[in-house]
Amino acid sequence: MLRNFHFGAYTGVGRSYLSNSLGGFGVYQAPGSLPELFTGSPATRYTNWINNAGTDNSAPGSYVVANPGAAPSFKGHALNIPLAGTIHYEYKQFRIGGGYSYELMILGTFYPTSMSDKISNMKVSSSAGFVRKYWGMVGYSFYRWNDYLFTADLQVGNYKLKTNYNPSQVIPSTFFNLGVTVERELSEYLRVFARPAFEFKSYSLVVPGSGASIPYTNNMLSVSIGFTYSIPQLRRCVIKECRAQVDHHHGNREYRSRVHPIYKKQNPGYGENYPGIKKY
Ligand SMILES: [Zn+2]
Repeated sequence: MLRNFHFGAYTGVGRSYLSNSLGGFGVYQAPGSLPELFTGSPATRYTNWINNAGTDNSAPGSYVVANPGAAPSFKGHALNIPLAGTIHYEYKQFRIGGGYSYELMILGTFYPTSMSDKISNMKVSSSAGFVRKYWGMVGYSFYRWNDYLFTADLQVGNYKLKTNYNPSQVIPSTFFNLGVTVERELSEYLRVFARPAFEFKSYSLVVPGSGASIPYTNNMLSVSIGFTYSIPQLRRCVIKECRAQVDHHHGNREYRSRVHPIYKKQNPGYGENYPGIKKY
């Protein structure tokens, strides 16, 4: 049973598509400054309203460009680079498992979707941070083409925006990540894979003092590359001089070959890639 467990690791690259809805907010745009938001009166305005909202109480000028309810939404992108560990169990074409990851996320500039002649782009003061994720996974292998196995899988999990996001203001959603894992077996223990995926998630930023929050969608398109490893069924042969290329016995115990590296696929009938065979 143990050899149906696969341990994996991956990295990759992703692009996040962020957008918000500024429902009850108005926009205050002083020349040469970042846009600020307000709800009732522009005497109290909110800064850094993407990841760590603050308050600006300085005397307002006459720079209201959108009244509450009339503000456009903002859109922006982020670059994501994950580092993840996974485990899953395989039974026939089905697989079930989970994972844990830390992801570097670098926020880019946010653009107003309208009124861009009056409203500046928005930049956060601290753009780089980490995203922590853990998830459960189910998958189904639906196609094999030569050495490549295609598996559709769904991850459902919890994420947290850390470091450059204010944790007391951010309420993240559950995330859903749908992808296709394309695997190639290097040996019966080791596989490499690539996984294009799309992730659905969102968060709300509670703006302190405003009594309101800003909903953000935070979806991501990504490609991961990694490997999985499973524990070999048999112990590696313990006799140093042994050159047997297939599973074999010494006494009443069975061993696997000791001349085969774990990253090379072997024919179980006669073995392959014997290091000496070409020369002699
Ligand atoms: Zn042996």
